[in-house]
Amino acid sequence: MKYKRILLKLSGEALLGSKDFGFDANMLRLYASEIKKVTEMGTQVAVVIGGGNIFRGRDAAEAGVDRAQGDYMGMLATVMNAMALQGSLEAAGLYTRVASALNIAQVAEPFIRRRAMRHLEKGRVVILAAGLGSPHFTTDSAAALRAIELGCDVVLKGTRVDGIYTADPEKNPDATRYANISFEEVYEKGLNVMDMTAFTLCKENGLPIIVFDMNKPDNLRRLVTGEEIGTLVTM
Ligand code: UDP
Repeated sequence: MKYKRILLKLSGEALLGSKDFGFDANMLRLYASEIKKVTEMGTQVAVVIGGGNIFRGRDAAEAGVDRAQGDYMGMLATVMNAMALQGSLEAAGLYTRVASALNIAQVAEPFIRRRAMRHLEKGRVVILAAGLGSPHFTTDSAAALRAIELGCDVVLKGTRVDGIYTADPEKNPDATRYANISFEEVYEKGLNVMDMTAFTLCKENGLPIIVFDMNKPDNLRRLVTGEEIGTLVTM
């Protein structure tokens, strides 16, 4: 096993599956079974989940609220996603905890670093909800910061494309995928991997990022066992 403790970042949008809003049960089941495989191999899994299937801060103006208010709404959206994922992980037979950056004690415990580490050591999947608990951040930033403070070996950014490309592969058929790329090259080429705050945090702490296709069954297990899939960003 190459990675002992991972931070898996899933976007909220990924939970849409074939729907326009909310959750597709098939996606939740798929993610639960993928996470189960690596947990049973002994990999410790922390998950940061986004909220884009429900609400994003950047849509605040459209909803008639200011940006910070919209960001808090986005953070609450991530709590719903965390609870949905928790439900599907538990249905798959895993032990889980939701740790929230916003106090919402009836549904999630507060995020306390040492407590979250203890859960990981005991083999519980820790789902980190509400991002960082502060507006003007994203769940990518939460993924980077929590991975660093929890001592994760890598940030695995699960997306629907299988890595980082020279151009957007959904728009440009000539785009090619990088197998490896350095943090510097990502800056130089202006590639979009994570938002800049998140990306810089990973760079400054020497934390590798792997962008991969989470919707392809078995990819997560293959990555954890050291197979080279997706794109690895390193120093
Ligand atoms: N958000 C925030 N602070 C955080 C994390 C998230 O304000 O630390 C808000 C922000 O408005 C964001 C929304 O929550 O748009 C949902 O998260 P994100 O857009 O990162 O979700 P994803 O795109 O991964 O689904």
